This record gives sequence, structure tokens and C-alpha cells, in this order.
Amino acid sequence: MSDCIFCKIAAGEIPSNKVYEDDKIIAIHDLNPMAPVHVLFIPKEHYCCANAINEENCDIVGHIFSKIPKVAKELGLENGYRIVNNCGEDGGQTVMHIHFHLLGGKKLKVDMA
Ligand code: AMP
Ligand code: ZN
Repeated sequence: MSDCIFCKIAAGEIPSNKVYEDDKIIAIHDLNPMAPVHVLFIPKEHYCCANAINEENCDIVGHIFSKIPKVAKELGLENGYRIVNNCGEDGGQTVMHIHFHLLGGKKLKVDMA
């Protein structure tokens, strides 16, 4: 998608602080970290949000989750971490290209509202 910032990051058109990349996904440090470790897992293909995931394309979500433990270990998150996906306006999504936040490096507060 031409005007999507995460498509541009995935294509290497905008610089990012990369922690992992393969043919399907990229993981980058968040520009405005909300925890000592804050990494975004982003599929290279454009899906607007969780609502765009279905039986045909859900393998990409499994692929992302298969790489999270490896990256979390590399970043020293042996004591645990949180995965967050914000969907749509009420979910607090600001970049309309699906991504999963990996947060850790301290005991995170539980505040779901
Ligand atoms: P969300 O609110 O769930 O859509 O999350 C979007 C996240 O993308 C926020 O945590 C932003 O700080 C982060 N972000 C926006 N632009 C960039 C960028 N160019 N590089 C890295 N992270 C970014
Ligand atoms: Zn995109």
C-alpha cells in the first residue's frame, strides 16, 4: 500500500531499527517505546488490522508468534513479556497496518481499560 508507513518500512524505503527480518515479516524497535523493550512485529504484506485476518491468511499470525520467543530471548525477556494487538479506533490502533507489540523488560502494569 503506497501511503502506508509500515509498508514503506517493510520495503526498506523508511529506515528502522530492525531486530528481525525474514521473507514474511519484520520486527523493529518502536519509535516511542512504552517499556524498556518495545518491539513491533509487522507482516510485509499489508493487512489493515485484525479484522482483515481470516481462514485463508491466518498463517501469517502463526508465523509471527513462532518468531516472538526467539526475539524475546535475544532481547533478554526471560522473565516474561506482553504481546498486544490494537484493532481499530476503539482499540487504540494508530497505524492501520496490522502489527503486534512485544513489551517487556520490567513488571508491566495491568491496565486493560
Ligand atoms: P498502534 O497504536 O497499535 O497502531 O501502534 C503503532 C506504533 O507504531 C506506536 O507504538 C508508534 O510509536 C509506532 N511507530 C509509528 N511510526 C513508527 C516508525 N516509523 N518506526 C517505529 N515505530 C513507529
Ligand atoms: Zn501497510
